[in-house]
Amino acid sequence: MIKTEKVLHLKSSRGRKVRVVREHYLREHVPCHSSLCQAQCANEGKVLSGEVTHYVVPDAGVARDFMEILEFREIQGIVFTQTACQAVQHSRGRRQYNRLRSLLKDPRHDCILFANEFQEYSYCPREKGEPQDKWQTRCVYHAAVWYHDHLAGMKPVVMITEDQTAVAEYSSLNCGVYILSTQEYLQTFWPELQAAQELYCSIAQSLRERGSEGTEREYTEHLPAEVLEAGIKSGRYIQGTLNVNKHRAQHEAFVRFEGSSNKNSELNSDVLVCGGKNRNRAVHGDMVAVELLPKGEWRGRTTALTEGQGEEKGDETQSQPMFTGRVVGILQRNWRDYVVTFPPKEETQSQSRNSQRILATPWDQRIPKIRISTQQADKLQDHRVIVRLDSWDSTSLYPNGHSVRVLGRAGELETEVQTILIENSSPPPRGGGQRLELGVHIADVTHFVKEGSLTDLEARARATTYYLADRRYDMLPAVLSADLCSLLGGVDRYAVSVMWDLDAQTLAVNKVWYGRTLIRSSYQLYYELAQALLNGEEAEVPELAQLPPGERDAKLAQLTQALEILTHVARRLRGQRDRGGALELEGVEVRAQLDEDKNITALVPRQPLEVHETVAECMIYANHWVARKIQESFPQQALLRHHPPPRQEFFNQLQDSARARGFTIDTRSNKALADSLDRAVDPRDPLVNRLLRVMATMAMSNALYFSTGACPVDQYYHYGLALDRYTHFTSPIRRYADMIVHRLLTAAIAMEKGAGPAKVLASNKELEEVAQQINNKNRAAQHAQKAAQHAQKVSTELFQCLYFRDKDPETDERCVADAVIYTIRANGMLVFIPQYGLKGAVYLKNREGQVVSERQDGGCDWQTGSLQRYLDHISTTTAAGTSTFNLFQHITVRISVQPSRCHSNTLRLEVVSNRPHQAPETQAQPPQPQGARGRSQLVQEVVRQAEEASQQAEEKRCRAPKLSKEEREFRQSKSPNLYSLLEEVREMALLDLAACGGAGGGGDLGAAAQACATSA
Ligand SMILES: [Zn+2]
Repeated sequence: MIKTEKVLHLKSSRGRKVRVVREHYLREHVPCHSSLCQAQCANEGKVLSGEVTHYVVPDAGVARDFMEILEFREIQGIVFTQTACQAVQHSRGRRQYNRLRSLLKDPRHDCILFANEFQEYSYCPREKGEPQDKWQTRCVYHAAVWYHDHLAGMKPVVMITEDQTAVAEYSSLNCGVYILSTQEYLQTFWPELQAAQELYCSIAQSLRERGSEGTEREYTEHLPAEVLEAGIKSGRYIQGTLNVNKHRAQHEAFVRFEGSSNKNSELNSDVLVCGGKNRNRAVHGDMVAVELLPKGEWRGRTTALTEGQGEEKGDETQSQPMFTGRVVGILQRNWRDYVVTFPPKEETQSQSRNSQRILATPWDQRIPKIRISTQQADKLQDHRVIVRLDSWDSTSLYPNGHSVRVLGRAGELETEVQTILIENSSPPPRGGGQRLELGVHIADVTHFVKEGSLTDLEARARATTYYLADRRYDMLPAVLSADLCSLLGGVDRYAVSVMWDLDAQTLAVNKVWYGRTLIRSSYQLYYELAQALLNGEEAEVPELAQLPPGERDAKLAQLTQALEILTHVARRLRGQRDRGGALELEGVEVRAQLDEDKNITALVPRQPLEVHETVAECMIYANHWVARKIQESFPQQALLRHHPPPRQEFFNQLQDSARARGFTIDTRSNKALADSLDRAVDPRDPLVNRLLRVMATMAMSNALYFSTGACPVDQYYHYGLALDRYTHFTSPIRRYADMIVHRLLTAAIAMEKGAGPAKVLASNKELEEVAQQINNKNRAAQHAQKAAQHAQKVSTELFQCLYFRDKDPETDERCVADAVIYTIRANGMLVFIPQYGLKGAVYLKNREGQVVSERQDGGCDWQTGSLQRYLDHISTTTAAGTSTFNLFQHITVRISVQPSRCHSNTLRLEVVSNRPHQAPETQAQPPQPQGARGRSQLVQEVVRQAEEASQQAEEKRCRAPKLSKEEREFRQSKSPNLYSLLEEVREMALLDLAACGGAGGGGDLGAAAQACATSA
């Protein structure tokens, strides 16, 4: 072994040069990791295939700038040199470096690491005065030559570099190694890999543009990481996630500090960040460090409603001044893929003399415009494109990015649906002494998917099953999800089961049993059929169709009784949780009724069946008991899911609104909240309670996965479900977290039998990393809003816009509807339209300064006047008099579509009258139910009429004798269309609490049919 010195010239993030001398040891034998090796290298682990036409060695610059191209799985036989890897680490940071490392570990990518700098014969010391990049290229070249010689020339070796002089210089040496530029290489060896070439052009263009940029600073430099770290420790800076106000994206953002990371004890709310300069290049979702401004510069939240991008400076109304700060550094970028719209031609030319530089507008309003360098500006105008952010320098007003994939022309349905899905799911379940046994059986997915296998790695990367327009991306191969792991009727299937021995009277648990089982379902029920049986309706059970009438009736009675016991047990379990403080929350859910041509004929608020809730309750019970088991067995490394309590400040709106109606909402605990929501019922208007629940839902935070070792026990609590332990066990087919939990449970069972864990489990740290990764995947919008609401909201909005798009708001009766005011704002109010499950803003003041005024006949029009806002009402004053709009008042609004090119279309709501809407033939309101506590009762009230119309059709379909194969296997419910796919996306993203209403995905259903209760 030879010792030498290696000198590194590093640049600190402040631009200071640092010289580092390291001792460097050289060895004669460094493994080559090629299967063609004839020299007995100690090649452990991954080796390069011998089946490729050549090996390719990217130099440091290529590895640094074009990693995404090297990630194409088609490109095989890649030798990453140590030199190149270090260049990535030093110049691109930890994230990019980790990406390279996982690429090297991933068995599906044919690439290896060659430690060239430890190899005696390939290492070259840096020469005096030699620029770093030249030296790196030389190192890589020598490594390539060594590699070629080491394999005795059996395989052509190609080195790729962006350095044209190096191409010329080294090509002339004729050492058996081909030197090519990246573009030449792609054109020569991968001409059919069009996507790689396009990506190359896009990145190269972006790099050129960055090089030619001015040096004038637009923003303050970010502080270096070590300064930020020290500042956060000392309490000078606050760490948190940047959250941009969607309605005032350019002006207002908040930093939400994260639990224990806040050392500033006085800080008990978000920190406001005003304007672009203070935001200092942080993008929505980034983890940032902020410094508080002096108190004199603190400002309040804007409470006025903002319409479009209009400047309404004079009209701003602010709440109390709050903590206000500026971003001093970025701790972690959380950039994802964004959908942007390319501007029309006229705009591109005015933007820049160089027409290749485009400012594209992201669909997500919280994301700043992105500068993209492209040669396809003409071709792409008015198209929606997926882009990735590359950098945001202090000299640049906008971030730089490059395009990854074209989705299609804006406004076309397919493009729009894909846009929504990408923006919301990027990579998307037997009595004194009387006893009952209850069992939940879940497909034994991990029996088929071994840890670390290719299928496992792929599932882990996908994290969840997701959907794009008409396509469905399963987390697992179809042979598993549709067959082996689908608990079909009448066939043996492997399962993992939880069985409870319960006291039939008290439901006290006498015994719990966990284990692997072999099960055979007697019936494969779908929800509607199960509900029909429970309702005592006539329904045909396919499994019984062939039996003689007597036998059939007996079996049917037996089945119905089992369903009744199950329903009874679930109600009782639910009651137990309710007493513990479980929240019944409310989301605005609508269902679109489609005709044969998939046109939307009506929007109907959703009505969950009780059987949905029954199955959900059994799933919650199983998840809870599995969580208890794995946490007991692995106190430091079990994957659980918790739901932190909401922050008090988010309840302000709820409390203010409730007070206006004379109710007190107690938010001190989930129990107090649940109880006070139950009491807040206005017998004259059931909508009041429903709206208060909607507001409570909006105040909730996300449920998150965590590793038990990473979190103190008192934080394990699941607020919404009111359970001290919770995890995800019931959907291993569509969620990777459940697969981890299955493995933990299996290991716990093995340990109990004295076998000791067969395999070393993931450490707390590793598990926490996986938990974070899945959390990030699941989070459509970081912290801003619950993914659930967001996904639900956009899919709902799309259908609402499609519904109203072709209707003339002036003449079509369906565009006029009753609305309830639930929040008062400075220049208008937020209303809820029960008929369409729609929420939105109604402005009382327009840009001309006119206000809405009530006429004698109750109608409204615009007149010159003024506006006064109070806690529980808002009023306008004109020459004609004063009009008042109270909280929870019913008014009449007109709904029209306001088209938007870059973002989603939105609905515009205008006051028609400040009296309730008198629909032509629906004047007779049915009597209101008393003490309406259950959501089903409330929803039923609202949708009764719409439902009656759909019921017949529904029943008819229910009795349809034949279900398609796919319906039986995947859904067991009968509406496979675009809308139902969107619905599933929404459901997947749902909070655990809301999941009570929709245990409707594939995996759960297989299991769902298996939640059974029989008397013993
Ligand atoms: Zn070798």
